[in-house]
Amino acid sequence: MSGEETRAGLIGWPVEHSISPAMQNAAFQALGLDWHYDLLPAPPGEVGSLLAGLAARGYRGANVTVPHKQAVLPFLGRVAGEARAIGAANTLVLQDEGWAGHNTDAAGFIGALREGGFEPEGAAALVLGAGGAARAVVHALLSAGCRVAIHNRTAETARRLVAELGPAGGPRARVIPSPDALEPDAVDLLVNATPLGMGAAAGASPWPEPLPLPAHWTVYDLVYSPAETRLLARARAAGAAAVGGLGMLVHQGALSFELWTGQPAPLEVMWQAARQALGAAPSTVM
Ligand code: NAP
Repeated sequence: MSGEETRAGLIGWPVEHSISPAMQNAAFQALGLDWHYDLLPAPPGEVGSLLAGLAARGYRGANVTVPHKQAVLPFLGRVAGEARAIGAANTLVLQDEGWAGHNTDAAGFIGALREGGFEPEGAAALVLGAGGAARAVVHALLSAGCRVAIHNRTAETARRLVAELGPAGGPRARVIPSPDALEPDAVDLLVNATPLGMGAAAGASPWPEPLPLPAHWTVYDLVYSPAETRLLARARAAGAAAVGGLGMLVHQGALSFELWTGQPAPLEVMWQAARQALGAAPSTVM
């Protein structure tokens, strides 16, 4: 790395298995930009002190991942509308007033969904999970004109999510007590926003095994490693459309790239680099 390079990096804990450096550096290289993306590990509680020294070290952009997407907000000079509504920032841009926080997870999810052939406007979605990723997904679906039902292991967390949506949720967002509380015909899209299907839970499916997956559903799994989760395999076997989570990772990264550089992201280059890096990465960090 030359001393003149502009730097960007991923703030999180742990981050060592992230595929974002491969994806972002391939994009910088493809456009001939003198930028470099690296890892910025920050244990819980240390995101503020890390951020305070970043500009002096040449950083102009950053991504933020678990566990800091919410914790970073008080340290920012500005929080853009969607990040404020979601309550989490995954992209930081250095501006005159300090670090500005954005959320590209939401638009990245919709971009990946549309790329997978699903149009959310006027559709009905069932989202499994109510954690950080689910918050972005629910906001994105509502903004795109979709109705959303949420089921979560801890119902109270889902209820809080819906309550915090305020007028943005209205009658279009609700909590359901069990995955099969809706008529299958009343659903077009199933989204897994839980970690079931990855890591130690690789064989698990967030959709109960005895329940069928109707052929007219589109199933989007936020998990992207393994590429073919148990849920996606079941969906495909049932004749449903099945889309893996790598597209969301690539699209959120592409939108971050555009915020930092002001240039259109080379999406195909990023897809290729992400697929290649994932082949070598044992874990699933952003
Ligand atoms: P999180 O904030 O920890 O939330 C996890 C959610 O999953 C919670 O609603 C939790 O329910 C539920 N859950 C956890 N273990 C469960 C289990 N054994 N059975 C049923 N529900 C369970 O995590 P997150 O950041 O939202 O991430 C969720 C998943 O999305 C992860 O796999 C992550 O890798 C993936 N993700 C992918 C992308 C992408 O770009 N593709 C982006 C972000 C996240 P409780 O409330 O009951 O704990």
